[in-house]
Order: sequence, then structure tokens, then C-alpha cells
Amino acid sequence: MSKFLDLGLKEPINKALMDLGYENPTVIQEKAIPQIISSKEDLKAFAQTGTGKTAAFSLPIIELADQTSLNTQAIILSPTRELAVQIGRNIEEFSKYLPNLKVATVYGGANIEEQIRKLKRGVQIVVGTPGRTVDLIKRRALKLGNVQWLVLDEADEMLNMGFKDELDQILEATPETKQTLLFSATFPREVEAIARNYMSNPAEITSGQKNQGSDNVSHEYYLVNERTRYPALKRVADLNPNIYAIVFCRTRRETQEVANNLIRDGYNADALHGDLSQGQRDGVMDKFRKKTIQILVATDVAARGLDVNNLTHVINHKLPDQIENYNHRSGRTGRAGNKGVSIALVTRKEQGRLRPIERILKKKFVHTPVPSGKEICQNQLFHLIDKVHNTEVNTEQINNFLPSIYEKLEDLSREELIQKFVSLEFNTFLSYYENAPDLNDLSSRDNSRGRSTNENMTRFFINLGRKDKLNPAKLIGLINDQNITDKIEIGAIDILDTFSFFEIDKNFEKETLDTFSTNNPDFNGRTVNIEITKSDRGGGRKPRRNGGGKFSGKRRSSDNRDRDNNKGGFGRRRNNDSSNNSSRRSNNKASAGFGRKRRRD
Ligand code: AMP
Repeated sequence: MSKFLDLGLKEPINKALMDLGYENPTVIQEKAIPQIISSKEDLKAFAQTGTGKTAAFSLPIIELADQTSLNTQAIILSPTRELAVQIGRNIEEFSKYLPNLKVATVYGGANIEEQIRKLKRGVQIVVGTPGRTVDLIKRRALKLGNVQWLVLDEADEMLNMGFKDELDQILEATPETKQTLLFSATFPREVEAIARNYMSNPAEITSGQKNQGSDNVSHEYYLVNERTRYPALKRVADLNPNIYAIVFCRTRRETQEVANNLIRDGYNADALHGDLSQGQRDGVMDKFRKKTIQILVATDVAARGLDVNNLTHVINHKLPDQIENYNHRSGRTGRAGNKGVSIALVTRKEQGRLRPIERILKKKFVHTPVPSGKEICQNQLFHLIDKVHNTEVNTEQINNFLPSIYEKLEDLSREELIQKFVSLEFNTFLSYYENAPDLNDLSSRDNSRGRSTNENMTRFFINLGRKDKLNPAKLIGLINDQNITDKIEIGAIDILDTFSFFEIDKNFEKETLDTFSTNNPDFNGRTVNIEITKSDRGGGRKPRRNGGGKFSGKRRSSDNRDRDNNKGGFGRRRNNDSSNNSSRRSNNKASAGFGRKRRRD
């Protein structure tokens, strides 16, 4: 029997869920659905974004709503139009086999007359933003006297947006007998106050720990300065040709500026913020959902309603003013079982703001160096080669040309042909990045690379890096797999290109070395070596090459160039990362075809 039927939902709802591909209830659904169906108690539910909380409160309401009555029985309040629309759409999907169940979604910026007409026809469930809901109550188009369920979704955000008065007015219009359901990913003081004022002895349920970050998200920070913040952002995009990300900014102005810069520099990007008209916002969101836009630059509020599950990255161009919002931001990735990365671009001054966020997340940020030009070239190149490998060949279309093409290329060996093809596709990108400066805030180097900043920790070198597909989660897994001791504390982790560092509780220094040496583990076929780093300045251990491989000769010389450039500080930065010079722009155009926007049409 379906697990949703077990939770007390009827067959037509179960059937709709099966159509949507919901096979099993999520944790919050497992807890909330039977609770709401069986009890009239108010409910406070702590649920991360992306855990299925919309279905958790909607399904029991759909189950219990009296379809024979056209009175409004449920009012669901959400902070933004986008989120309201999303909830309304979900409810329509969940109730598609219940033809008499009607839902109306009401929000500002849209024709109120139309919304009034829909309400007048009679609907059991209303989803609304606070402002428009109050308007409709005042116009007597929305009558909440028969409401049995009041849902406050993302109540913290409604308060942040200044909707306190509206919430008071809406609550006034509902009967005392209603059941109030408060769903939120974070519970700052203001929300607790709402719960105290508007709910009586609520039951509490949680999916995961309160305010804690999703396990599927790893949190990294890049140390930048104000001048390198934007170039570092571009490096993230260039390192990940298939990036599908939201870049969070604090203000509308910052959002628009970053988006403008990315668009000018040739990325598939656009802005989403409150200064845009509803039509513009809808257009941007639609393109982002369809992946025509790969990078959405957004304010916290505007991105709230976006239901996108497969983001690869969340990037904090600047950390949010309110630390709880970091959780909301990073919760946009790592959804529906996918893995995600949340990157914070922070200056040394802002670095201290990571600690309180870590306390909320109960997770550590991993200091990750800003990707180097060499790493980016390498990633892009292999991406290109993979694409070539996976390209389907339609011989029918090209058959006619092939004989003369073979003839023209006859004098080239296989190796020469590959070299020429790679150079043709790649030269511009390579030349753009070959002299690319190090964007890390150099003043922090010795903290991040060589020494442990914590005297209770020993810092280890490990001969695996990003190139080996190592990431913090995998490194932690690798360490845990060795069973060094029952419980071992792992400190800061730095994943670099071809090697990495990690910290281990000093008391287990010897055990760690011995266990690795005895187990002699391998990682993706590579033998793993670890060593204790020396606490000298500037790296503890020199980067060790992974034995030549595909890139060997050329790469070494470009490493040398990198090092020379580092000495020169940012002297050459303008040639590479400053966005307002002509050589940069021409490089951009020529580099089209490497994961950047090919065309903006
Ligand atoms: P929410 O937290 O409500 O925004 O949901 C996040 C995403 O998970 C949405 O795209 C839902 O469609 C999806 N989802 C919710 N519940 C389930 C489930 N039981 N099985 C599969 N996907 C789900």
C-alpha cells in the first residue's frame, strides 16, 4: 500500500502524488500529515526549504476540506507572490482528481477584479500574500469567518518584509476555533513571538534539527577583497561549465549591478529583484526554470518563491544582513536528494560573520582557494572533450562532405589533429587565463594553507585534490572510513587543485598516520598519502604534481607563469579580470563556446 495512503490521505490525492512522481513522503510530510489530519492542535513545524513542506501542510487540508461547501476553509499566507503562486499551483496538482476542490491564489501586482470574481465563485482554499489578502478582506470579497486552517508559511520573511500589521488584521478576521499551522525553516525571536501570540500550546515537529543546514549542502568560503569579489564570482562560473546557480546579493542595486556585469561579460545571467515589474520577474523566472539563464542574481526576498531543485551552486556575493537568511539561501541547493555547494565570497573583515552562521548550521565552512586560471582551463578543456565524446554523429548529413574533408586532413597524424582541434577551440580561453592572477586575499595565506589556526589541531597534507574529484564531504568520508578511533574531530579543510589539507584532533596525530599507513586506502584508484604539514609560512608543503598526465609539459610552464604573476600582485589584474577594458572584452567574445553564454538572444 502506498505510504501516502498510510498517512491517511485518500486515493484521489495519492493518485495525483503518484502522477507527480512522489513515491515516498519526506520526513516533514510523514510527521505533519497524520498530525494535522488527526488533531485540531496548532502546529509549529521546523522545516528546511526544499524538504517538501508545501505538501506537508497542503495535503491534509485538501484531505479534510469539505468539497460540498464553497466557503473559504483554509487561508495560506506566504511572503511573496512567487511563493504564493507556487503553493497554489502545487495545490491544484495535488487535487487534480478532486474536481470540486477549488483554490484561488491572490497577490498584489495582478488584476484584483479577476481575483474577486474567482473568490465570488467560491473556493475552499485561498493562498495569498498578506497585503492583497487584507485588501480583499476590506473589500468584503474574501470572507474568513469559516476558516478552519490558517497557514503561515515563511513567517519570518513576512515579518522581515514588514507585514506585521497585515498579519494582525488577517488573524483578526479568522475565527478562534481555527487551527494555525506555522511552517518555517528558521525561528528567530520575532517568529517565536508570533507563535506565542497567535497559537495556543502548539505541537512542534521538525525535519532535522532546528535551523540546521541540509546535509546535502557543503559550505565553502573564498577569501577575497572588494576588488576581487566579482572576478572571483566569474571564476566560479568558469570553473563549472554546467553551473546552474543563484547569486545572492543584499540590495536591489547590488543585484542589478552584478547581473549587468555578468551579462556584459558574456554569461547567461539575469537579475531578479523587487524593482522589476511582475511581468519582468515572471519572464526571468521562467527563463531560469528552463535554464536559458544559468546564473540568476537575486535578492533574498525575490528568490524565495523559486521552486528549482537542481541548482549546482548558491553563491553569496555578500553575506546576508540577517544570518538566518544564509540558511534560506543555501537551502536553495542540495534539494530533492541532490548535492549542492554554497559559496560565500568574504573579505577578511567579513570572515568573522561566518562563525555565527556555522553555529546555526552546525557545520563548518571550508576555506577553498579561488580557482586558479590553470584549474579553470583544465576543467573547461575536459568539459569540451567530454562534449566531443558524447556528440552524436549524424553520418547522413555529413557523408557527402567527409571524403573531401578526409583528403584535406590526410597529411595530419591523429595526434596532430587532436592538438589542432583542441588549440582551435581552446586558445582564446587559455590565453585569457594563462596570466590570470591569484584572486585569493594573499594577506590571509599563511592561515589558510600552512598552519593550523587551532593549536589543538594537527594539519595534514593529502595527495588528493579537486582534480581527483575530492570535496570536503568525500574527504570526511575517507577519514571516517579509516576508523581511526570511535569519534574523531576533523577541523578545517582546504581542498586545492591537486592536493588538500585537513586538520585532525592533535591527540590522534599518530593514530591517524598509522591507520592510513596500515589501511593503505585508495581513492578513485589512487593510492592515498598523508603527511603532517610543517608549520612554515606560505604553504607548509609545496604543491606536488600528480605525475604529468595529460597536461604535463605545458602545464608546468604555466605554473611558473602563475607564480611569477603572484609576485607581481595585482599589477596585471586589469588585463584579465577587470571588466571595463577593451582587451578583456575582446577576449570574452572570442572565448564564447566554453560554457559561457554563447549567444544572448
Ligand atoms: P518544498 O519544500 O515544498 O518547496 O518542496 C521542494 C521540492 O520537493 C518541490 O519541488 C516538491 O515538488 C518536491 N517534493 C515534495 N515532496 C516530495 C515527495 N514526497 N517526493 C518527491 N518530491 C517531493
